[in-house]
Amino acid sequence: MRDTSRSIFYGLPLIGVGTPQVESLRSYLLRLAAEHSMIPREVVATIASRQSHYRPDANLNVIWRNFSVSGTSDRAERLAIMLSDATGVDLVPGTLARFRQVISARRLCYARTARFCPECVRRRIEETHVHAPLLWELRVVSACPVHGIRLMSTAECGAPPSAHLPLNRRVSLPGVCGRCGSIGFQCVGATVLASGRDLWIAAEAGKLLALSNAESKSFTREMLTAGIREMVDKRFDRKPVRAATQARLARATVLHWLKGTEAVEFPALFELAHLADADVTELFRGRYTEVGAAIDARGSNGAARILPTRYERHDWTSVRSALVDAADDESVPSLVSVLAPFGVDRSDACRRYPIECHTVSRRHDAVRRMRWQQLYDSSYAVFSAATAELRRRGVEPTRARVQQAANLCCFFSARNTCRSRALEDVLAGRPPRTSSRDSGG
Ligand SMILES: [Zn+2]
Ligand SMILES: [Zn+2]
Repeated sequence: MRDTSRSIFYGLPLIGVGTPQVESLRSYLLRLAAEHSMIPREVVATIASRQSHYRPDANLNVIWRNFSVSGTSDRAERLAIMLSDATGVDLVPGTLARFRQVISARRLCYARTARFCPECVRRRIEETHVHAPLLWELRVVSACPVHGIRLMSTAECGAPPSAHLPLNRRVSLPGVCGRCGSIGFQCVGATVLASGRDLWIAAEAGKLLALSNAESKSFTREMLTAGIREMVDKRFDRKPVRAATQARLARATVLHWLKGTEAVEFPALFELAHLADADVTELFRGRYTEVGAAIDARGSNGAARILPTRYERHDWTSVRSALVDAADDESVPSLVSVLAPFGVDRSDACRRYPIECHTVSRRHDAVRRMRWQQLYDSSYAVFSAATAELRRRGVEPTRARVQQAANLCCFFSARNTCRSRALEDVLAGRPPRTSSRDSGG
């Protein structure tokens, strides 16, 4: 008989329960392991071995590597329950399992690559308890709502390869770079401001994660569907297809949600909610409320409120001068790459500086078309030479033979379409195409 007043592990508290910054189960597990001088896998093995259905031959390495610890899968929920048992701390708030009856597990959270806000990490290092919020693991979230900057990936370690630790000496701890071991990720480069849209999404997602266990488990698909229906009725003229196309989703997405034939995916839901200014938490409660109005009514909660809506910190004058510079830049950068360092949305920038944005994208497109044409022309020449050579030898030219004779492969990928096209044209005996749009050059 086990003494229920004792737990296998020290009951480390789960940080930030009831706030948007609630710790993720993954982060908790890493801290728990460090606290007991174990590696996370050992912790899992220890608790798993006490379960009646445990198979000692189960390859934990494989299981461990490929599943999102804080996600909605059975396995994630089981792990949360086993760990709660083993520590005496309720860890369900640290997972998305509490929403599993409502949302789709697809495109929900990252399984492996950990992301972090460099600013949060730096501050927490000073306060000695570093944890990684569940918010950082959501795929839909790409910004820190507290600091207004873009989240970074642990793969962005800026240390030189010589400073990377050997695999057996790397640590897994929130706030520590796994590659070079830098505490507080001192190794990463400059922070990047997040766009208003990304901040809005992060704030809305945070409000959802701040909900209590009981409330999040009480949600049903019908409630969410009712919320979405009200949003479609009020904002999209009762037309689910219009809602979907305006949010740049597949046409039938919203229709499927309303019919209940498809589970709601987080990224699509947030896209639509952002477009309609909808309070996402209220949608889960079965109502459509515009953000802003709803927040003041529940303002006493405090914790749920992170940022004012429509929060913007873009330095638009710098954006404009970057656009002007890019218009004369000889490397002809794309609009996206010019805007990326500012975390500005393409559509926001185009609305504000239509002429500058148009100039940059037109130049870039022209250069890109020219490069494609060159690639097409050279591929066409090589393929037609190879075809002629095959015919001369009396061999029937086929796709495979021509590629082999030309020593040039084409795959059906976007980057390879011009080469594929060249091959198709050669085989069909068509003359080479010329770029129709810039006939002058
Ligand atoms: Zn932060
Ligand atoms: Zn590093």
